[in-house]
Amino acid sequence: MTTPFALVGATVVTGDAAGTVLPDQTVVVGQDGKITAVGPAGDVQIPAGTGTVAGHGRYVLPGLINAHAHLFSDGKPLPSILTSESAEKVVSAFFHSPVGHRVVKGRAKKNILTQLRSGVTTLRSLGDVGYEVVEVRDEIDGGAYPGPRVIASGPLLAATGGHGTPTIALVSDNPWDARRNVRTNLRKGVTAIKIAATGGVTDARAIGEAGRPQMTEEEMAAICEEAHAAGILVAAHAQSKEGITRALRAGVDTIEHGAGMNDEMIELFRANPQSLHGSSALVPTLQACLPLVKLPQTDTGIDDIVRANAEMIYEEMLQGIRDALANDITIGMGTDSALTYVTHYNTWREVDYVSRYGGLTPAQALHAATGANARMLGIDTVTGSIETGKDADLLVVDGDPLADLRALANPAYVVARGLVLDHPEVERFDDLDAQLDSF
Ligand SMILES: [Zn+2]
Repeated sequence: MTTPFALVGATVVTGDAAGTVLPDQTVVVGQDGKITAVGPAGDVQIPAGTGTVAGHGRYVLPGLINAHAHLFSDGKPLPSILTSESAEKVVSAFFHSPVGHRVVKGRAKKNILTQLRSGVTTLRSLGDVGYEVVEVRDEIDGGAYPGPRVIASGPLLAATGGHGTPTIALVSDNPWDARRNVRTNLRKGVTAIKIAATGGVTDARAIGEAGRPQMTEEEMAAICEEAHAAGILVAAHAQSKEGITRALRAGVDTIEHGAGMNDEMIELFRANPQSLHGSSALVPTLQACLPLVKLPQTDTGIDDIVRANAEMIYEEMLQGIRDALANDITIGMGTDSALTYVTHYNTWREVDYVSRYGGLTPAQALHAATGANARMLGIDTVTGSIETGKDADLLVVDGDPLADLRALANPAYVVARGLVLDHPEVERFDDLDAQLDSF
């Protein structure tokens, strides 16, 4: 139960793709945490005994949805010594120990709450060490502490030696073992399934390895069938035409990162008979790639292989966004938080990047992060827009985000399922932000 309140006189940024703005609105939130009324301030009746929050001069938009989060790290660049193959094994062994589990769960909780305090009222994790995010989700939903709505994947599903192994993946090398891994995750309470369809940037050991297909269509089809039977969407890390085509044919619902599209891919995105809801969506994550491409290697500390892969993947990702825009394919928003340079308080930067670099208008970028993400994730009946009957997931800011998306960086209020955070503070990494502000 939350305390009923009315936000009075704010400008509503609806979050639709056209950038519709409604000045001088009042939003009333009931004790069940849902929006009970929204409309022109002069018309909306505020029930007696309802406290008010001053909205004059402020902008209220739907709370952000981060459709691609990891939570095992704070996003500060890792020293290269820790990303070598041998160090990875040591880190993985520790993370999977009982002491490591406590550390990883503590980080997940801290990072999830940082995302909340920076305006993320729903997040989907796509690749966890174990089931620590599932546990945090259950604690939030059980009322132990306030938090965002969490959709949790648990460990992602990969082939031997594939992307995400050994730290955040369950391994299989044939369809039936892949099915077993889905069943294991479902039994543990996950509400998302993530596949590593291709190699990735940060753990590639050779130029060109990022994007190389790692799972067969048959394996991914088995995963999709198991997940869809439980009503669960499947996301796939996929960074090449071949990898994405296989994933789409198999029935994957959201393609993470993406690449330039051919006609078959475009067709499958728009109408995918094997997907859960009949179409598939693209979730670009520019924030995971842009700093590695834009900042000098002396700052990022990445080696030539990672740099070359990052450049290749970045160009593909941009082309994927252009092709999605040109062909009316749903574009969602995710940050790939926890990866190097992707902190948990900088979700606004992804919205900014897809606008400045990806070619979306600011309104389209906000829509990707709100209404489009909600529909893509099948939660648009409860969140993603400011409408009567929906959960009060709101972000209140002092500046017009459509004029400058940086206005999202310092929320005046974050409201999550009716619970108000007043001028929430987060721990920032100033040196990292200074680098990110340079491009
Ligand atoms: Zn990721």
